[in-house]
Amino acid sequence: MDAKTIRKNFLDFFQEKQHEIVPSAPLVVKNDPTLMFTNAGMNQFKDYFLGNKTAETTRVADTQKCLRVSGKHNDLEEVGIDTYHHTMFEMLGNWSFGDYFKEEAIAWAWELLTKRFDLPKDRMYVTVFEGDSSDGLEADNEAAEFWKKHIEEDRIIFASKKDNFWEMGDQGPCGPCSEIHIDLRDETEVSKVSGKSLVNEDHPLVVEIWNLVFMQFNRKADGSLEPLPAKHVDTGMGFERLAMAIQGKKSNYDTDVFQPMIQFLAKKAGKEYGKDEKTDIAIRVIADHIRAITFAIADGQLPSNNKAGYVIRRILRRAVRYGYTFLGFEEPFMYQLVDILADQFKEVFPEVVAQQDLIEKVIKQEEAAFLRTLDKGLRILNDLMESNQSSKVIPGKEAFELYDTYGFPFDLTSLIARENDFSVDEKGFNEAMTEQKNRSRAAAVSEKSDWTVVHPGDEVNFVGYDSTTASAQILRYREV
Ligand code: ATP
Ligand code: MG
Ligand code: MG
Ligand code: MG
Repeated sequence: MDAKTIRKNFLDFFQEKQHEIVPSAPLVVKNDPTLMFTNAGMNQFKDYFLGNKTAETTRVADTQKCLRVSGKHNDLEEVGIDTYHHTMFEMLGNWSFGDYFKEEAIAWAWELLTKRFDLPKDRMYVTVFEGDSSDGLEADNEAAEFWKKHIEEDRIIFASKKDNFWEMGDQGPCGPCSEIHIDLRDETEVSKVSGKSLVNEDHPLVVEIWNLVFMQFNRKADGSLEPLPAKHVDTGMGFERLAMAIQGKKSNYDTDVFQPMIQFLAKKAGKEYGKDEKTDIAIRVIADHIRAITFAIADGQLPSNNKAGYVIRRILRRAVRYGYTFLGFEEPFMYQLVDILADQFKEVFPEVVAQQDLIEKVIKQEEAAFLRTLDKGLRILNDLMESNQSSKVIPGKEAFELYDTYGFPFDLTSLIARENDFSVDEKGFNEAMTEQKNRSRAAAVSEKSDWTVVHPGDEVNFVGYDSTTASAQILRYREV
C-alpha cells in the first residue's frame, strides 16, 4: 500500500466513524508566544481542551504537519542517525471533544491497524499507565480492561508517567495514555529476545507508532488534580512510521515517502544508498531537512537571523554541510528536491506546489550564501582542532567568529566538533555573543523582524507571499 493510500485510509476510516476531516494547521505558529512551530496534532485544538472555546463538532480527524526541533520536543540530534525520528513529520490524529472515550478510541485504533491495515497482532504491544502514588494517581486499569478485549494480556505493558501520562503544562488538562508499539525485527531475532522488554527502549525496530491520550483530569495551580467535567481523546500516530510498518520496511527512509529523494541524492552524489553509514546518514539528514525547510517556507516562515527564521536557517545549513562534507556537493543542490515534494504532496498539501518557484529560489539563495563561506569556515575549524588537541575544546571566542563571519550556527560547530571528539565552550560563545550585541546596541542598530503582522492582536492566517521574487518579505494576510 503506498503512502498516499495509507493516509487516505486513515482519514476515510475515521470519517466512517462520523469524524469531520479537518485541514492541518500551519506548521508555523504565529499567535502563541509559547510555541514557534506546531509539534503535535492537538496544538490547534488547545482551546477546546482548556475550555476557552467550544468545538462545533465533537469528533475530528486530520493529518497534521509537525516540526520537533525546539522546546519540549527536540528530535534534531536523532534525525538521520536513527531511522524513525524526523524534524518534520505528519501526525495522523483523531479527537473526541467530550464525546467518545477510552473504549471506542481503543477499539477503533485496533480495528484500523489490524483489519484495515492488516498489521500482525502478534507483533504489537500496548502500554498502559501504571499509576503514580506521589500524585495519588491509580493505574489505568480501565484502559487495560478495554485492551484485553483485543490483545493478549501478556502484550499489555504497564509503564511509568514518563511515557504514559500526558500533561499540557504545569497546569491544565492531563491524563493517562496508551501507546501502541510494533516489533519489526526478523522472526529469528524476535524469538531470541522477548520483544516486550524492548518497548520504550529506543530500539530502532521496536517502535512506538500511536499514542492515545485520555484527558480526564485538570491539574490546578496548586498541583492537585480534579476530574474534568468533559473527558477528551487526543491521539497521534506518526504517518511515516505507520508507512514503514505497513510496507514491511525497517526504516522510515525505505518507504515511498522518502525513497524518491534518497534515490535522487544518491544518484547526484554518484553513490549507492545502503553501502556506507556516513553517506547514508548524510542522505537521510538531507531528505529529512528539506521537508522541514520546504514546509516552513510554504507556511510563511522564511529563513532569517532570528527566532523561528533562524531555526529554519540552522536546519538548512546543517543539511548543506552534510552534503558538502559527505556527498561532495559544492553547488546548491537542496532546492532541486522541492520539485519531488511539490509533486508528492500536491493533493494533501497543495501549498508547496502553489509556491514552488518561490520556495526553490529562497532555498537556492540560502544555499549559495552559505556555500560561499562554508569551505573557509571548515578549514578554520580544522585548524582550531589541530591547535587544541590537548584540551579537545574549541574556544568560545573562535566558535563565535565562525558564527559571526562564516555563518556557522553554534549547533553546527558543535556537531562537527562532536564528530571529531571535541566539544565547544558554550559559555565563552555566549559571552562573545553578548559582547557583540552590546556593541551593536551602542551603535543603535535596530533589529528588523522578519514577520510583519498587519492586524496586531487579531488572529491572522498566512495565505501566501505577495511577490514571487526570492527577496520578497512582504507577506499577505487574511483575517480569520
Ligand atoms: P518517541 O518516543 O518515539 O520520541 P513520542 O512519544 O515523543 O515518540 P508523541 O508525542 O507520543 O511521540 O507523538 C505521537 C506519535 O508521533 C508517536 O507515537 C510517533 O509515532 C510520532 N512521532 C513522534 N515524534 C516523531 C518524530 N520526531 N518523527 C516522526 N514521528 C514522530
Ligand atoms: Mg519523542
Ligand atoms: Mg514515546
Ligand atoms: Mg508518545
